[in-house]
Amino acid sequence: AKQKVGLLFGGCSGEHEVSITSARAIASALQQDENKTKYEVLPVYIDKNGTWQSSNLAQQVLESGEPLLLTEKRKTTVVKEDNNNLAVTGFSSLTPSEQNFSYSEIDVWFPILHGPNGEDGTVQGLLSLMNVPFVGSGVLGSALGMDKIAMKMAFTQAGLPQVKYVAVNRSQVYSSPCIFPKLCDDIEAKLDYPCFVKPANLGSSVGIAKVRSRGELEEALDNAASYDRRIVVEAGVTAREVECAVLGNDNPKVSVVGEITFESDFYDYETKYTEGAAQLHIPADLSPDVVTKIQEMATQAFIAVDAAGLSRVDFFYVEETGEVFINEINTLPGFTATSMYPQLWAATGVSFPQLVDNLIGFAVERYNENN
Ligand code: ADP
Ligand code: MG
Ligand code: MG
Repeated sequence: AKQKVGLLFGGCSGEHEVSITSARAIASALQQDENKTKYEVLPVYIDKNGTWQSSNLAQQVLESGEPLLLTEKRKTTVVKEDNNNLAVTGFSSLTPSEQNFSYSEIDVWFPILHGPNGEDGTVQGLLSLMNVPFVGSGVLGSALGMDKIAMKMAFTQAGLPQVKYVAVNRSQVYSSPCIFPKLCDDIEAKLDYPCFVKPANLGSSVGIAKVRSRGELEEALDNAASYDRRIVVEAGVTAREVECAVLGNDNPKVSVVGEITFESDFYDYETKYTEGAAQLHIPADLSPDVVTKIQEMATQAFIAVDAAGLSRVDFFYVEETGEVFINEINTLPGFTATSMYPQLWAATGVSFPQLVDNLIGFAVERYNENN
């Protein structure tokens, strides 16, 4: 019998549309010749209010690529099914006859959700509770990969070189007018301008600012605090941005290294999502030594946060000094046909359909090891 793959996409984060595009690419790869006899896709769409749709509507979103807002904002709830599995309800706006499958039919889940409530361990916790195999990292890997402060602590522990940074809490930003200047003084004492102010738990460069003065620092801290309780301020580096893809579980493989170039001041939201604003160079023009160093660091980073299945690890390479700093790990990287992660694997000899097939294999392998 075919393996039923629950493709979980959409989600409440700002990366809803990217998720739909990634899910479409994955669904089509699962329906290509090499996978067609092996897999059946059961789409599960999470609308922007967090409601799960496993009906024809999910299929419709997958086919059209257009988001749907189907419900009022409501809470997702977890219920116990007859077979003792936990299932999620949040789709009661549909009558049972409109449901075309039950979650208990799904053999393996493929969450392709980016950002908070998808990439951060929340959905992974739910799937773990349901005791089903799923693609990608578990709770710990996902959570450490999402929170930039926790991630940096894990990287420090693993001895991975990083730029200097200061961790800030929202309460410090919203503190009294005599404490806030002290916070900025402390940051200025540790870091030179320009520096980068980031909400700790976002992606796609949302809420990130490059600041060059005290005034800009104050403004950026205030803005970042509107996105997240946790904020990180980092020393800015002038460097090439290079990325490496990781695939596997306990003994993961690494891809060739790719580079991103752009005209803008940094790789901000607009540059990421404007067609033609950024160029991918695969493989990057780097010496073999540097490539090896980056690949080793990518593996170490994957292990440091306890990632599984897949991750894209991003670096700053300072050509003048030869230094390589790790920037971040993304445990559910963009997965559209043109995204860096599948492109890196294509250049390494793993086609998109093979990649998806491998990921499902690793999900089942990890599940079997833990059960
Ligand atoms: P996200 O998770 O949203 O992608 P990143 O930490 O990767 O956040 O930052 C987004 C972009 O901002 C980077 O790709 C880079 O262009 C720029 N950037 C972030 N931190 C630094 C830094 N310390 N020095 C130089 N550029 C940086
Ligand atoms: Mg990121
Ligand atoms: Mg990034």
